[in-house]
Amino acid sequence: MTTLGSHRSLSPGEIVFLGTGTSHGVPLIGCQCPVCTSDDPRNRRTRCSVAVGLPEGTILIDTPPELRLQLVREGLADIRAVLYTHAHADHLFGLDDLRIIPRYIHSPVPVYCEVNVQARIRKAFDYAFEENSPAGGVPQLEFVTIQTEPFDLLCTRVTPIRLKHGPWDILGYRFGDAAYCTDVKSFPPESLDRLRDLDVLILDCLRHEPHPTHLSVDEALAIINLLRPRRCYLTHLCHRLEHAAFAGQLPDGVEPAYDGLRIRTELTPASGDSRPASRLLTGG
Ligand SMILES: [Zn+2]
Ligand SMILES: [Zn+2]
Ligand SMILES: [Zn+2]
Repeated sequence: MTTLGSHRSLSPGEIVFLGTGTSHGVPLIGCQCPVCTSDDPRNRRTRCSVAVGLPEGTILIDTPPELRLQLVREGLADIRAVLYTHAHADHLFGLDDLRIIPRYIHSPVPVYCEVNVQARIRKAFDYAFEENSPAGGVPQLEFVTIQTEPFDLLCTRVTPIRLKHGPWDILGYRFGDAAYCTDVKSFPPESLDRLRDLDVLILDCLRHEPHPTHLSVDEALAIINLLRPRRCYLTHLCHRLEHAAFAGQLPDGVEPAYDGLRIRTELTPASGDSRPASRLLTGG
């Protein structure tokens, strides 16, 4: 008989950076650069994800490859839903670690994503959708298809934000006065309108040099100047950005995030008038 011990939830408005690294992670395999060999734990970056505390439970944005290590590190287990930004491997391939979550929430894991992300999940994790899978042996997921219409989740209003990740259309999310926008190169005008009056903006910032699918430092600072959030935390950082040195180069109110950083913000109560269009029970 296994014993599943007590675990913490996040309080409403609490956000934890589970991972803040680019797709390779930092340190990079085989790299001996000063950042990859740094003793500062803020220079050790797992792949990108945040956990967000909502009034009725904690959610994840994305399931990166180090998800198990991230949740164990933060003492989080009762994950009430997962929202996906997109289906790139660095944001998706920890999904199998969700297998244990139904033991804590006593239901399949609600997964909010666009149709193309659901199709990728069904292909990459096909074993989760086969007949007669052993109970507990595969992720049990309940898909909720979303587009860019706002929806209610765990007593909070969530607004998806269309982001251009180079050629790919992906999603960011706004919860009250906080928004999470990783893996973005440009913002459609209507998305900029959804990002006004923010307390906290969490923003992609890969490196100083330009990149075809991610914001560079200068491009991120230009967006921050335009939107003027009260605070901004930069994420999806590569090994060319040394935490302390980079922090010293940034304007007031803008900081590099790091794995384990916890911040607080205000949430917008649910409106009660919006249900996602379709629910589909799968897996298990
Ligand atoms: Zn990424
Ligand atoms: Zn390196
Ligand atoms: Zn990506």
